[in-house]
Amino acid sequence: MRMRPNRRNRDTGTMFDKILIANRGEIACRIARTSRRMGVRTVAVYSDADAAALHVASCDEAYRVGPAPPRESYLDGKAIIAAARASGAQAIHPGYGFLSENADFAAAVAAAGLVFVGPPPAAIRAMGSKAEAKTIMAKAGVPVVPGYHGSDQKDASLLAQADAIGYPVLIKAWAGGGGKGMRIVERHDAFDAALGAARREAQASFGDDRVLLEKYLTEPRHIELQVFADAHGGCVHLFERDCSVQRRHQKILEEAPAPGMTPARRALMGAAAVAAAKAIGYVGAGTVEFIVPSEAVSGKAIDAFYFMEMNTRLQVEHPVTEMITGQDLVEWQLRTAAGERLPLEQEDIPLRGHAIEARIYAEDPDRDFLPSIGRIVHLRTAPPSEHLRVETGVRSGDEISRFYDPMIAKLVVHGEDRVVALRRLAEALAGYQVVGVMTNVSFLQRLVAHDAFATGKLDTGLIARHRAELFPTATAPSERILAVAALAELACLREGSAVRAAASSDPWSPWHAIDTWWLNSDDHALVLTFEADGVAHPVRVRTAGEHAVLSVGGRDVHASIARDGAELRVRLDDSSFSATVVARGEERVVFCAGEMTRLHLADPLAHSGEEEPHGGHLMAPMSGTVVAVLVKPGEPVARGAPLMILEAMKMEHTIAAPAGGTISVINYRQGDQVAEGADLIVIDDAPQD
Ligand code: ADP
Repeated sequence: MRMRPNRRNRDTGTMFDKILIANRGEIACRIARTSRRMGVRTVAVYSDADAAALHVASCDEAYRVGPAPPRESYLDGKAIIAAARASGAQAIHPGYGFLSENADFAAAVAAAGLVFVGPPPAAIRAMGSKAEAKTIMAKAGVPVVPGYHGSDQKDASLLAQADAIGYPVLIKAWAGGGGKGMRIVERHDAFDAALGAARREAQASFGDDRVLLEKYLTEPRHIELQVFADAHGGCVHLFERDCSVQRRHQKILEEAPAPGMTPARRALMGAAAVAAAKAIGYVGAGTVEFIVPSEAVSGKAIDAFYFMEMNTRLQVEHPVTEMITGQDLVEWQLRTAAGERLPLEQEDIPLRGHAIEARIYAEDPDRDFLPSIGRIVHLRTAPPSEHLRVETGVRSGDEISRFYDPMIAKLVVHGEDRVVALRRLAEALAGYQVVGVMTNVSFLQRLVAHDAFATGKLDTGLIARHRAELFPTATAPSERILAVAALAELACLREGSAVRAAASSDPWSPWHAIDTWWLNSDDHALVLTFEADGVAHPVRVRTAGEHAVLSVGGRDVHASIARDGAELRVRLDDSSFSATVVARGEERVVFCAGEMTRLHLADPLAHSGEEEPHGGHLMAPMSGTVVAVLVKPGEPVARGAPLMILEAMKMEHTIAAPAGGTISVINYRQGDQVAEGADLIVIDDAPQD
C-alpha cells in the first residue's frame, strides 16, 4: 500500500517513499542515487535553463519551478513547496547552496506538513550569521578566532577595531559564504577601500552588508569536522577533512584524514565539534569548520584551533568522509530526517585509508580563476570504480551557464594510504577530458604533482606560494602533439573527401581525392599550420603507401593512425600510443599522455594581412554589471592599475590596465550591464611606465 504524505510516524522512523530534491547539478544526481538505492522515489525541480539537465533525467519525475535566474527558480521556496505538494513527496532535501541554509524555507517546509532534510530552523538561524555563531560558540566554550563581531557597523568604529586587532585583518560578511564579501587588509590605509568592496559584494550576494573582523592568520590550515546528530540526543563526528588547498578562499582539493593529524588532536577537535552541534540542538548532517595554525597540526599545542563557522547542511566535499568511513551520508540524512537513530555509535565508526577530492571547475586559472561559460562539446572521464567516484551533473552537449555554480564535477579517490590515493587522483585527472569551456584540470594536475601537496605540507597559502611552478609560462607544443594533430586532420580530410565523393555525381573528380595520389610526392605535400600562443607550427604531410611522412620541427617522422571517433591509435616511427583530438571550429584540442594541448588550425587560405589593431581596447571578460569605474577620461594609468570593477556570478572582478597609457574612452557607467566581449575602456598607447 502506498503511504500517504504527512502521515509518517516520526517516532518509529518510517522511511519516506518519495522526496523532492530542491537542487540541481551533481548534488541532485548524487542524492537521487542514494534515494533510488533505498527505494525512495525522487522528484526533481528545474529551471528553464535545466529542462534537459542530467539531474532531471536522474529523478523519477520533475517539476518546472521557474526561469533560469536562481532567484526565480531554485531560490523560490514557494514554487518548490508547491512542486513537493503536487508530487506527493513527503520530504524536501535541499542539497547544498540555494535554500539549504535558509531557516525561513526550512520553517515553511514544516508548515506545509513536509519534512525538511536538515536541521531545525532554529539551528540554521543560530549559525546563519557568522557573527552570531561566534558569540554562541564562545559561550559554549569552543575557541573562536580573535576579532570583532559586534553590531557597531560604522566605518570609523570598524577601522578602530581593525587597528586594535592588529593587521593583517580579514573582513567577512556576517551572512558570508562562498568566499564572498571577504577581504584581507594588510594595513590601516587600505582598510576603507577593502571595507567598501566587501560591503558591496556582501550586499549583492546576501542582501546584507554587515561585516565582522577577524585576525588574519597567515597561511593556516582549514580543518573541518563532519558531525551528525539525530532527534533522540545522539551526536557523533565522522572525523576531519583537510580543505586547506584553496583559491579565492574556496576549496579545490579536500582530503581525509588531515595529513599530520594526531589522535589526541582529532579527539579534541571532534569533541569541540560535537559540543558546537549540541549547543544549538542540531539534527542531521553538519560541518564545523576550524582554522588551525599550520605548524600546530602535528605539534604539541593540540588545543590550538579556532571555530570559524558551522555549515548546517551536507558539504560539497562529503564524499571523502564517505570513502574513509564506508558510510553513505545521504542515507544517514534521510534516516535521521525520518526520525531514526544514528546508524553507528562514535566508537563504531571506521576510519580506513585515505581519500582525496578534486573539484573540476569551468574556469580559467590563468585569468584568476574567472568562471568560463559555454557548451561542453566533449566530456570523457576515467571509468568509475570502487576507488574512484566521479560526481557530475553534466554530460557532453550540456551548457555551463552564467546562472549557476561553474563546478563541472568532483573526482573522489580512495587508497589504503595517501600515496596510493594521490596516484589514483593523478590518474583520474589525466583521464578527464573536457572541451568547450576552460577548466582547471591541467592546473589541478600540476597542483597534485607538486612536491608541497605530495608531501602533505598543506596550508591555505600553498597555491600563492608556489605560483611560479603552478602557473608555468606556456611552452611550445611538442613534435608528438603536432604530429597527432596533423594525423587527426589528415584522417578528417580523407573521411570528408570520402563522404563528399560518395555524395557527388562525379565520384572520381580529383577534387574529392585528398588521398594517397596527391600527397604522394614532394610536390604535393600538404602543409598544416597549428598555432599555439600566437606562434605558428607548420607540419608538412606527404604519404608513402599506407603511411604518412610528417615533417615536424625539421625532422621526418613515419606515422599512421587508426581512428575510432575522437580516439586515435597513433604510430610514430617505432612507438605507438593513444590520443584524442577534438575539433571545435578552428580549435584542435589534443589529449595525449594525460595532457591537454589547445591548438588553432590556421586556415591556409586566410589572408595574412595585418590584423586589425585592438590593443588598447579592454573587453569585458564575461557578462556582468559594472559596480565601479575607477578612472576618468584623460587620466594617465600605469600597467596593472585597476580601472573598473565588474560583478559577475556574484563575484567582483577588477579590470586592470594591460599596459601603461592614458584613458581615452570609457564606454560604461556604474550600474550598466555589459555583455561578454563588450568594449569597456580604450587606453591610448602613450607609455606611462
Ligand atoms: P566562506 O563561508 O565565505 O567560505 P569561511 O569563513 O568559511 O568563508 O572562510 C573561507 C576560507 O578563508 C577559510 O577556509 C580560510 O582559508 C580563509 N580564512 C577564513 N578566516 C580566516 C582567518 N581568520 N585567517 C586566515 N584565513 C582565514
